Amino acid sequence: MKKGGVYFLVLAISIILISCTSNNNIIKEERRIKDTTSYKSEDIESINKIEDFIKEQEQYIIEKNKEKYMETLSKDEEEYYWEKIHWFDDIISSDIEGYSLEVLKVEKVDDLKFRAELLQKYHCNEKDYSLKYANIYRIKDNKILDYDLDFKTFETEHFIIKYLGKLQLKEWLCEQVEKGYNIATGNYGQTLKDKTIIKLYDDRELLRQSVKLSFGWQFGGWYEYPESIKFLKLKNFTDYFKRGIAHELIHKLTIEEAANNMPYWLAEGLAEHFSKEEGIGDRYQPSYELIELEKIDLENYEGNIYDYYESSRFYVERMIEAYGIEKVKEILKELSEYGFQEKTNGEIYLENNKKFHEVIQKVLGTTFEEMNAEFSVDQI
Ligand SMILES: [Zn+2]
Repeated sequence: MKKGGVYFLVLAISIILISCTSNNNIIKEERRIKDTTSYKSEDIESINKIEDFIKEQEQYIIEKNKEKYMETLSKDEEEYYWEKIHWFDDIISSDIEGYSLEVLKVEKVDDLKFRAELLQKYHCNEKDYSLKYANIYRIKDNKILDYDLDFKTFETEHFIIKYLGKLQLKEWLCEQVEKGYNIATGNYGQTLKDKTIIKLYDDRELLRQSVKLSFGWQFGGWYEYPESIKFLKLKNFTDYFKRGIAHELIHKLTIEEAANNMPYWLAEGLAEHFSKEEGIGDRYQPSYELIELEKIDLENYEGNIYDYYESSRFYVERMIEAYGIEKVKEILKELSEYGFQEKTNGEIYLENNKKFHEVIQKVLGTTFEEMNAEFSVDQI
């Protein structure tokens, strides 16, 4: 992504969201054991430096010093850097207390690569959280940098897939992501310029804490432009996976087109509509009027998540029927005129609603209230 270009981020919770229990991950505390018997003195020196480096990271997080924290991260992968920008913005704006990041163990992988086992703890929204995970650090030009979780990587035609732990179903997965790509690009009529990074997690709590520490519930998938697409690793074959991939790819395409200025419901409605495979047609009756739907704060929503997604899709489909897809794409293009919105959709959806009201007046010659009345279920 080029900063300042038409890049945005969006946020998009995938259709395989899993509701609402955030539990206190009680884990067994481990005593810190440093097995240095097989290490040379320079290795031990590097390990000590990495431990100090992680303590500095912890301090920057406690102080909410974003600038210093961002300097500790590798920029080799822009997706990771953006994930951490959004992750840190959430720490700044939310009520995180008692944060600590304890180093349990640091191991040498090779002369310049080290793996640290960490214990992250904090308090938020009246809950205590505790999570053990492993992170990679590398020494580059005599400088230590944080290189993300301990992912292994392989590529397909249109994706770079990273995963934690062991991967089963690899062949099936390669096939499904490419099917998802074909559904999204075929339906929307546009291809993606670069390969898309997918990260597969083996722990639902690690996925949640990797996205936002303040998030109130655990989910099965996440995408926010220009981050990687994140999914919980699948244990079984499921047909939903390729649609989930298609859903997130539609976010990537449309959010970029609108420079991240879309209302939340519009982003989700487009992703749901264009990730449908042919023949999966239905006539869902929306649970909300459009005017109600746009006010919902999805990240703190306590209703049925499927009602939100299906209602969003319903209104996008009404728009396409009434005005045609070209007009809908024109709306996205007009939204991009507001410039790239760097924050996450959860933070700026109310602002984006206002932009949408202005743009439909210009592109469709209608007010939002008129659109609401036009698409009201009573009128159909
Ligand atoms: Zn979504």
